[in-house]
Amino acid sequence: MSVQSELIRKLKAAEPEMIAIRRYLHEHPEVSFHEEATAAYIKDFYVQNGMTPVPYGDGYGFAINIDSGKPGRTLALRADFDALAVQEDNNLSFRSQNAGVMHACGHDGHTAYLMILARELNSIRTSLKGRVRIIHQPAEEVSPGGAKGMIAAGVLDNVDNIIGVHVMSSMPAGSVNYHLNETQTGRANFTLTFTGQGGHASMPHLANDAIVAGSYFVTALQTVVSRRIDPFDTASVTIGSFDGVGSFNAIKQAVTLKGDVRVMKESTRKTVRTQIEQLVHGVEVMFGVQAQLDYDDNYPVLVNDPQLTTQVIDSIRNAKLDVVTSINDCGPQDPSEDFAYFAQAIPATFFYVGCDIGDGKAHPHHSPEFMMAESALLVAAEAAGVATLDYLQ
Ligand code: MN
Repeated sequence: MSVQSELIRKLKAAEPEMIAIRRYLHEHPEVSFHEEATAAYIKDFYVQNGMTPVPYGDGYGFAINIDSGKPGRTLALRADFDALAVQEDNNLSFRSQNAGVMHACGHDGHTAYLMILARELNSIRTSLKGRVRIIHQPAEEVSPGGAKGMIAAGVLDNVDNIIGVHVMSSMPAGSVNYHLNETQTGRANFTLTFTGQGGHASMPHLANDAIVAGSYFVTALQTVVSRRIDPFDTASVTIGSFDGVGSFNAIKQAVTLKGDVRVMKESTRKTVRTQIEQLVHGVEVMFGVQAQLDYDDNYPVLVNDPQLTTQVIDSIRNAKLDVVTSINDCGPQDPSEDFAYFAQAIPATFFYVGCDIGDGKAHPHHSPEFMMAESALLVAAEAAGVATLDYLQ
């Protein structure tokens, strides 16, 4: 039996275990930077299987090294394990037991497939060349993210390339999806406070209305994308929070706005930031208010190395996996991902495994209705598995 068919056979045999792990994690979610019990559970699995977790960074992240004992390249595989502050809304037998916390992005699935794949790769390690580094990463969902600290602590030292997988409820189960080059947006978030002068609603001339200044800012902000970005580039700018709540007969002293920026090029990121800073200054001058802008450029644009991505997708295609029903270029994806930091450090690829449960309803990521087809776990394990074997040949 070839090494590939041996690995596939082992993964298929372990599918019920993969699903059981995913369900356990789903029942016990923890939010970003607080995944203590989750990390302990995953580490315990490795210790029981004779593998040694190596911690990286200040969070709960760690790696597992699989060494063939022969020279060759080192490939990293990464899965994230944090959940979201979302209240689950369904009747699944394994729904979240932690109020207000939910694996609503599928990171439970990423972790489960990678744990089983790691164990099975380890069991055939003497048939491989080079090394595999399994990276279990915390805190993907919240800036500054878990990837940055693990990289700073050396998790990519001596690693040549890295692969990440995300399940996608918008894509059919059985599908493997990819894109070359700029693949997920970069992100910035900002908090902006305008301070004027509070006063009596009947005496506006003695006050300075922060709500009016903030409202002009929101309106002017709409020109950033429409008038300052090349129509062939892309960006989005959203004000998601504007705390104008007060009393009907009082003029508001101060308002705080919170905003979100997404871009597909790092040069666009700079343009958007410069424009926002200019508009903030303009509103200060126009209305005589004081502005405080805290602007956080966080996750970079996720760039898939075209050569590595093509190689990985060719491996998956050539393996003719019976669980894979289609392989598609899905185009760029709107959300941001801190896997982008890994991809900034070394050539990387991040691909998607469809997990639509096929009931005709939307189950969007980050929503209380998120659900995944668990068949996606075996697809992810087999796809990443054959890509890893090919890579190490
Ligand atoms: Mn995610």
